Amino acid sequence: MSANLLDGKAISASIREGIANEVQDLKGKGVTPGLAVILVGDDQASHTYVRNKERACEQLGIYSELIKLPADVAEEELLGRLHDLNADSKINGILVQLPLPKHINEKRVIETIHPAKDVDGFHPINIGRMMTKQEALLPCTPFGILKMVKDTGIDIKGKHVVVIGRSNIVGKPVGQLFLNEDATVTYCHSKTKDLRAYTAQADILIAAVGVAKMIKADDVKKGAIVIDVGMNRDENNKLCGDVDFDDVAPKASYITPVPGGVGPMTITMLMYNTVLAAKMANKQ
Ligand code: NDP
Repeated sequence: MSANLLDGKAISASIREGIANEVQDLKGKGVTPGLAVILVGDDQASHTYVRNKERACEQLGIYSELIKLPADVAEEELLGRLHDLNADSKINGILVQLPLPKHINEKRVIETIHPAKDVDGFHPINIGRMMTKQEALLPCTPFGILKMVKDTGIDIKGKHVVVIGRSNIVGKPVGQLFLNEDATVTYCHSKTKDLRAYTAQADILIAAVGVAKMIKADDVKKGAIVIDVGMNRDENNKLCGDVDFDDVAPKASYITPVPGGVGPMTITMLMYNTVLAAKMANKQ
């Protein structure tokens, strides 16, 4: 048996086609969705992510604005910019690229973004709405993962989903989204004893850890769907995930590659959220 590849680029391309059509529809009604991205400092990885987001906006016809602030910017100034963007009718989505320099309180920044413009889905109001199954802007990486699993056509109801990782941006919300789909969800983390005892039971295994190739074939149930969120460097400085792809692929039914798996979906869902926010703001 060899796994089917869950190709994030291909799934993204079909979702983006739908988004581009929606943007054209909205433009016909006089509405251009707009995304503002704030980048603080000059972290190289953050620059790359931001560039990719700008490029995606351009391709889809979404207006984008990049605000670059120096690494030593005062928190008050950053919050002031957010208040301005909250009030700016051209802007439907606001994203502050994380991580932020240590002197800035990340929670305060996230909570200053208006929940209706919180296209990252990190604001406690959106998290609460997600938990209570109300309409919400959903966090992009977890939302993208759910879309990918749905793309396999399997029925998620009653499946055992094991999530490794419990961060606020990936692990916790992705488990919640699958719980909302009637899966049985188990969370594992760095204090979990006998991790394999859990992972080997997973119908759907989601690794969001940040440890290169830690998941091996012996950790995985035969026929499982394996989603690899990790973005790490291997011993040759090559990009790799948390899953040892070559070892696990022969045992899985579906598996995401790194790169080209979850990564492209994250940006696509950001575009999706920006258009959704524009539709909500304009009652479309
Ligand atoms: P965090 O560092 O915030 O969280 C990592 C989680 O993994 C923690 O909950 C931690 O447990 C757990 N963990 C660490 N070591 C182990 C271990 N040995 N066994 C079991 N659990 C462990 O990371 P993020 O959630 O932000 O990101 C996870 C990975 O996903 C990273 O590689 C990141 O680069 C990538 N990522 C990829 C994205 C994409 O678009 N493809 C988007 C976002 C992230 P504890 O809570 O106990 O510390």
